[in-house]
Formats: sequence, C-alpha cells, structure tokens
Amino acid sequence: MTRSDHGSSPPPSFSHPAGDTSPSSQAEGQTIVQALQQVRHTMAQAAQACHRNPQEIDLLAVSKFHPASAIEAAILAGQSLFGENRVQEAAEKFPPLQERFPHIELHLIGSLQTNKVMEAVKIAHTIQSLDRTKLADHIARAAETHKRLPHLLVQVNTGREPQKSGILPEQADVFIPLMQKRFGQALQGVMAIPPENQDPIPHFRLLRYIAHNHALPILSMGMSHDYQLAIAEGATMIRVGTAIFGVRQPL
Ligand SMILES: *Cc1c(COP(=O)(O)O)cnc(C)c1O
Repeated sequence: MTRSDHGSSPPPSFSHPAGDTSPSSQAEGQTIVQALQQVRHTMAQAAQACHRNPQEIDLLAVSKFHPASAIEAAILAGQSLFGENRVQEAAEKFPPLQERFPHIELHLIGSLQTNKVMEAVKIAHTIQSLDRTKLADHIARAAETHKRLPHLLVQVNTGREPQKSGILPEQADVFIPLMQKRFGQALQGVMAIPPENQDPIPHFRLLRYIAHNHALPILSMGMSHDYQLAIAEGATMIRVGTAIFGVRQPL
C-alpha cells in the first residue's frame, strides 16, 4: 500500500526529534500527562489498600527509547525522577534537560559495563545496578575523578537468571556489607527485576528481606505490569515505563 492510498490523511508517525513542538508531539505530551495522573492515582490506591502512606513511595519514570520531548512533557506535569538503562542514550538526552530543569534526577537502571562507568558517575543521581566488586572499583575511581559519588543500589538477581545482572541472593550477606563499608551512606538500597512470566511476589519478598537485613531504606521493585503488587510488598520506589510513555519503539 502506498501513501496515496490514504488520501489526505497524515502518515503515521510515533517518534519526534527532541524539541519538536508539532501538534502531534503536543498530543503525545497530553497522553503522557494523563498516563502519569493515572499511574499516580493507582499508586495512591495501592498504598491506601495496604495502609501505607503514598508519600513514602517514589515513582521513577522509565524513559528509555523515548525522546527528550516526552521527558519534558513529564517534567512539566510534575515528574522529577527518571530512569534510563543505557549510559550513551542518557548522556545524550539528560544533560540538556538538567540544565533547564536542575531538580530532575537521573537513575541508571541497566546493567553497567565498566567502560561506561566514568560517564555514568558524571551524569547519574543514582546507579541502581551495582553487582560486582570490579564495578565498585570503577565507580570509586570515577567518583574520585569527578568529585561526586552517586547514590547506589545493589541489584539482586532474585530469579537466578543467567542472562540477568545482579548478585545472587546468597551473595547478598557478604557483598552488601562490603559495599556499605566502602561507600557508606551512598549505598541506599536494593533493586530487582523478577523473571518474566513468574509470580513476582516471592521475588519482591526476598528483596525486601535482604533490604531489611542490611537496614537499607530503598527497595526498588515493581514495573508497569506489577507495581501495585510491589507496593503491597513494601516497594519504596517503582520503575514504570510503558504505563507512562507507551510502548517503546526502536529509536
Ligand atoms: C525498562 C525497565 C523498566 C520499565 O519497564 P515497563 O514494563 O516499561 O514499566 C523498569 N525497570 C528496568 C530495570 C527496566 O529496564
């Protein structure tokens, strides 16, 4: 089918370059504003249902694969915490936004290669994927260079999936105290991504148990499809992408 088959209707387009203010990108912005309101409302309901204070749960808006214009729409709607999983992409999108909106926080939530650590430490408020001593060595070195140490979460591979980052659960009792000794208060919590197609609740409980054992305040768990369950299991930060920004398209 060729373009002329559609007569005068506009071609379908879902991606907008940064800074685009065309009508379609304004419509995209409206959708994001509504989706954010919906997620915040559902969060509050989930918190109330288990007698938690909604204020103690942070919403991390996961903006990977989405353009800066989408992030800006979310910022203008009051969102200030953002998650990205690739350092390169985050380094392109965030510094210009942070110049205009200095209060926003960038959290890096993807598995981190050591050759990306210098850049990661430079731009991130929090690195959520600390999972090995070698990575800790690189983070410490980069922190020296940049004179700034991001907050850190230890990622736990609760499902013991070979392709996933994270320490194994039985390593937590050795690894976490080592990291606490090394990074002090910068070591703030734990993060996990339960296996797909499994009941996430045992994974959330295991992560909560580990955080409790080590007196760590931040429990980063729950995504678009399971954040209500995560809130019921004690999450203090949920990481939501699709439910806010829509389905990700390759850039
Ligand atoms: C992409 C991603 C998310 C968000 O997933 P959605 O299902 O789109 O909400 C959360 N956490 C991590 C680590 C991710 O990589």
